[in-house]
This record gives sequence, C-alpha cells and structure tokens, in this order.
Amino acid sequence: MAITHNLGYPRIGRNRELKTALERYWRGERDREALEETGRSLRQAHWKQQERLDWQPVGDLSFYDQMLDMSFLLGNLPPRFAADGFGLDNYFRVARGGTTADGTSIEAAEMTKWFDTNYHYIVPEFHRDSRFSLHTEALLTQIEEARSDGMQPKPVIVGPLSYLWLGKAKDGVDRLTLLDALVPIYEELFARFDAADIAWIQVDEPALVMDLPPEWQAAFERVYTRLANAPVKRLLATYFGPLRDNLHLACRLPVDGLHLDAVRAREEVARIIDWLPAGKVVSLGVVDGRNIWKSDLTALLDWLEPFHERLKDDLWLAPSCSLLHVPMDLEAETGLDAEIRSWLAFARQKLEELEILSTALNEGRADVADALRKNALAMESQRWSLRVHKEAVKTRAAAVTGDLESRGQPYRERAALQASAFNLPLFPTTTIGSFPQTAEIRRTRRAYRSGQLDDGGYRLAMQTEIEHCIHEQEALDLDVLVHGEPERNDMVEYFAEQLEGFAFTRNGWVQSYGSRCVKPPILYGDVHRAEPMTVEWIRYAQSLTNKPVKGMLTGPVTLLNWSFVRVDQPRSESCLQLALAVRDEVLDLEREGVSIIQIDEAALREGLPLRRSDWDGYLRWAVRAFRVAANGVDDRTQIHTHMCYSEFNDIIEAIAAMDADVVTIETSRSAMELLDVFEAFEYPNAIGPGIYDIHSPLVPTVERMTELLCQAAARIPAERLWVNPDCGLKTRDWNEVKPALANMVEAARRLRSLQREAA
Ligand code: GLN
Ligand code: ZN
Repeated sequence: MAITHNLGYPRIGRNRELKTALERYWRGERDREALEETGRSLRQAHWKQQERLDWQPVGDLSFYDQMLDMSFLLGNLPPRFAADGFGLDNYFRVARGGTTADGTSIEAAEMTKWFDTNYHYIVPEFHRDSRFSLHTEALLTQIEEARSDGMQPKPVIVGPLSYLWLGKAKDGVDRLTLLDALVPIYEELFARFDAADIAWIQVDEPALVMDLPPEWQAAFERVYTRLANAPVKRLLATYFGPLRDNLHLACRLPVDGLHLDAVRAREEVARIIDWLPAGKVVSLGVVDGRNIWKSDLTALLDWLEPFHERLKDDLWLAPSCSLLHVPMDLEAETGLDAEIRSWLAFARQKLEELEILSTALNEGRADVADALRKNALAMESQRWSLRVHKEAVKTRAAAVTGDLESRGQPYRERAALQASAFNLPLFPTTTIGSFPQTAEIRRTRRAYRSGQLDDGGYRLAMQTEIEHCIHEQEALDLDVLVHGEPERNDMVEYFAEQLEGFAFTRNGWVQSYGSRCVKPPILYGDVHRAEPMTVEWIRYAQSLTNKPVKGMLTGPVTLLNWSFVRVDQPRSESCLQLALAVRDEVLDLEREGVSIIQIDEAALREGLPLRRSDWDGYLRWAVRAFRVAANGVDDRTQIHTHMCYSEFNDIIEAIAAMDADVVTIETSRSAMELLDVFEAFEYPNAIGPGIYDIHSPLVPTVERMTELLCQAAARIPAERLWVNPDCGLKTRDWNEVKPALANMVEAARRLRSLQREAA
C-alpha cells in the first residue's frame, strides 16, 4: 500500500480569514479568544480537506511563521524580548516589533526569504549564551484537536540543523557550538510526542539541499546518531532541490524515512531508493508544491509503479514541499478561462492528485480510469493549445542575436552624450517611481475595475494625480521626475495584465509574510505585447514639465520571478519572450521622446539558484534578458534600473554586465554596506545608493543624508553618483514624503557645494 501524507497546508484560509483575524486582533478590535477560535476553525477546516490522506500535518498552521513557532517551541527568543515570556502577544512582538513599559520601541526580529520562495520567515537569533527550553503546550493541544477531529496526526517540526543554519549568530558565535544545548531539547520533545501517542513525526531539514560546509555535514551525522533512539519514528524531509553532495549523508542518517522533492530532484530518486537500507520509508514529493499546474498522472504512474513494486508499504506519496507556496482552492476561481483552468491544480486539487495516484498504485489504474482520462485530456489540451503556442513569438525569440543586446557605444561615450543632452547638475536627484498611493487613488482604481467609473472618468482622475505629482516634484526641485504610478496597484500585475500569455486569479492568495499575501499572475503561454502599456501616462506627465520625466517599467526577470511560470519550456525561454515585450515598450517610449527610461529588476537577486554552482547559468540568461529589453535604444537615451536589496556584492559583476547607465539601489537600512563592494570591484556606470529608508515613517535629516552621501562620494566618482530614496514611495504619506525629499534635495545641494570647495 502506498501511503499518502502532506508536508503542510496553506494557512491563510479560503477567504484570507486568518489575515482578517490577525489584523483585527492587532488593531485591538477582537480579543485573543476570537483569534484562537479562528485558528481552531481553520485547522479543523483544513484537516477536513486533508482527511483522505493517511497522515495529516499538525503544527503547520502558524499564526505568523513556522520558524518563529520553532523559536517559541525551543524557548529561543531574542534577548530583548526574553523577559516577556512565551505568550501570544510576545510572539507577535518578536515578529512585528514592540515597545517596552516606558514606551521605547524594540526592534522586531529580522525577516528573510525562505529558500528561493517568496515566503519570508522570522530569523532565529543566536548568541554565545543562548539557552533553550521546551514549550509544547500549543502543539500538544493541536495534536489532541486533530485526533478529536478524526485525524491521524503527524507533527511537523524544523530539525535542529536547519533551525541553526537558517538563524543568525548575533555575536559571532559558531552556531554549531549550540548543538549540545539544543539536542537535549529535541530529545525531550520527541519523548513528549511519544507520550502523546504519536507514531510518526516529520522533521524538516531543507538545509540538506544547500551547499553545506564539511563541519555542518558532520554535525548532521552526529546529531541524528544521537537522536537515533528516539521513541517516535522520524521522517526526515528535504525539499526545494536535489541533495547532490549531501545525498550519501542523507541516506546514511539513522532516521525511519526520507522525504525527497521528486519534482526538483527527480534524477536522484532511483539512486536513493537503491542506497537506502531496506525497511526505510521513502516519501516521494511527486506533486509540485511550488507551482500551480496539474501533474501528468499517467506519466507519474509509469515512473512510480516499479518503485512501488519494490517498496510496497514503504513508499509514501506527498507534495514536493509544504503547500504553503500555492493558493488553496481552484474551486473559487470561477472567473478563469475554462481551458486554462483545466490545466491548474491548487493545494486542494494537488491532494486529490495524490489520492488518484495512490489508488492507482494500490488498487490498479482501472479504479481511477475516469480521473486518469480527464487528467490526460487536460495534459493534451495544454500541450497543443493555441493559447499557449504563438508561432510568431517563438520565431522572434529564436531569432534574437547578440546585436540586440548591446548599446552602440560603451558607457563612457554614452555618458558624455547624455550629459550634454540632459544638462543635469552634479549628483542629480530622482525618485524610484511611485508616489504615495492615497486612499483616494485606490478608491478610483477600484471604481474603474468594478465598472462604476468609465474610461474617460478614470483617465481624468489619473491625469489629475499625475499633475499633482509633477507639481510637487517641481516644487521640491528634483532633477529627474516620475509620473508617480497612480495607475498601478502592483509592479508585476500591472504589466502582466497588459501582456498576452498571462492569466489571473481572483482569490489565488499566497502568504508572503505574517498576514501579507500576494496573488501571483500565471504565465501560461508565449508572451507578447499587444499594444503600448505605459506610453500614454508618461507622455502626459512629460507634457506638464520641462524637466525630464523617466519612463517606468518592470523588467523581464522580475515579471518572471514574481509569477507562476509554465514548465513546458525553460524559464530562460519565457524570460526572453518577456524581454522582447518590454523592449517593444522601451522603443515606443523612446519614439515618444522619453529619453530616460527605468526598468526595475527588484526581483533579480531572488531568482538566484540555491546552489552556488548554478548561479552563473541563471545570471547569464537573466542579464541577457535585461539587455535585450533595455539596449535597443539610442546612445543618448539613458537607461536606469532599480534593485531592492543591498546584498549586491556577490552579483556585482552580473549587474555591471546589464550595462544600465544608472542603477539605483536599496542601501540605507544597511547603512551603505553596499559600498564595501567598491573596494574590490569598480562598478563602471552610474549608481544611486538609496539614502532615504522608505520602509520607515521617519523623515531623515539633511545631516544624516549628507553624511551618507559623503560616504558614497568617497567611493564613487562624483560624475557617477545619483541621489535618491531606497525604493518607491507608494506606501508612505505625502506628509512624510515631502519633507524627506526636500531634505534629500538639500543634501544633494550641500554635497555639490562641498565638491566645489574641494575643487
Ligand atoms: N518603480 C517601482 C516603485 O517605485 C519600484 C518598486 C520596487 O522596486 N519594489 O514603486
Ligand atoms: Zn525597490
């Protein structure tokens, strides 16, 4: 009998009930009991949807984040919060920041991306004197709940090595030295599971798909040997990639079962089954937990049947990873095109696929003949659909040659041409694109979408916003202006909606962090641009001022990385098609006389593969896509790009290879850490390190920004230094933005006069 189980389920709820409940609780509109009740009823509903599996995950429905749950389970709070104990309110304070009794604010724990997903976890903090203690009450209650709901609970926890690996040493402590304190806590935890009559637990060790130093590999062996006599059976779960050099290690560990991501590590499965000692459970994550396409069930069965022959009861089937990373239920998507919809599977549908697979293996394919036939039809329809395949797009992409990628002359010559064309001052000031998205703007967009406002009314309202934005920027005396992006609710969705080849869900929410969710577009087919997407707005903005207005676009790599992408062709191929679509827009803008164009690549870095040795391959096609999008312009046209992160050092050469004339980049939160890069590598083009932290409501002073600029000017030649905020201003209020930008402009003036004095 093949066994079915699940690694984790989406938490946020069919209609984002958890989001609503959390935010109400945080605003003080609902009490703790009401929040707990929402948690309880969501768990119940979600288990119900998983009831046909042999094992249901328990402990995956976190109120904020599963790593933060682990920190509380293991009694590891940042010292600044430790005095306030392990209650729910302190839990939220660690996640979101808080205040002490006397009102001074305490910084929230750091948050960072969970592997290569768009989910963010709360980073555990470690210190030389970190101590651990066990707090199992919440988890044990949930186990009881699951049982009383008729489930077969399999608690899900993060293993000790991944917990340490994903955390941050605050005082330089070698995290591995903490294992001696940590492992006994896990031993005690396992004993409590045993006392609660638990048979199997899932111990997540996704660190095994990363490049691990030898001492970490050795620690895996040591720790799991120590835990070998635990009274509960341990399923060690790895996901998000192949094991490669950790493969032998993973097979050797004395655990009772091993879960593999059979989507991303498919080529390792046969070998692992060969090597694993008999009697160990092999859990194959055959259904893709990272994407929204149906599985090809017949092909999977062809592949699985021989394994099942051999392993029998020891073969388990699951999604590749937690289903946290896909939307919950396709049933809700009544607005999708029926054909496209027939190709999709969200969390619930993925579990149905597991059930079909296990029935076919256990009872024979005949028992699910109908389901298999339907699945095969969907596969066929997707394979040949004219919605997917556009010959003209493929032909054009295939014909892309190197000359499409390069500007006419090298940067220095272009810069000279541009300098005389724009006549900008030294240290030119600009912003990243968006200005405050007021309630009024959002109301207008909503009214337009729902049909309450017609085209004319909408255009007029947006023009009024643009006019306001241009006037404010002129009053502030910024040098390069923007239109302010009032018409965009999201930098990816806005473009995806205007491109052929994308589909959209109504309710396809995926958790990004805490109560925040995103609704990624679905890139299902060959992509092309039917008509101009931004020209009208930029043209209008430019008509209002004599200063240059920047055209504002989202780049191909970011459009790709923030969408669910088709898997029938390499990502690089889809990216190139996106690049050509953006290129068309760039050239249209240029034809309209827009001579500064920014192409945002906010998400370039997060597409980096998990293994270092795969970076080059990715960066090569990503950079090429950007170049194809950007570099068709005349040498007098100035290309900007923007990036939202400061870990810039390890990809600086790739960023230089993009050859944008100007790159604006987030830095101020990390106090110009970025500038260290320039010690080792001279970035050849112009750069604007952000000096105004837009994530904070604080208005930075002229002095502070001048200081940051002076630091930058010490490393970057004056004629290549720009002055700008970290990122777009859309989440801020005008009453924060105006004084902050006024100070920024003043800081640039000060720098200019310092420069004159020095000369
Ligand atoms: N141009 C976009 C804006 O200003 C860039 C957003 C981003 O980098 N995340 O909003
Ligand atoms: Zn940004």
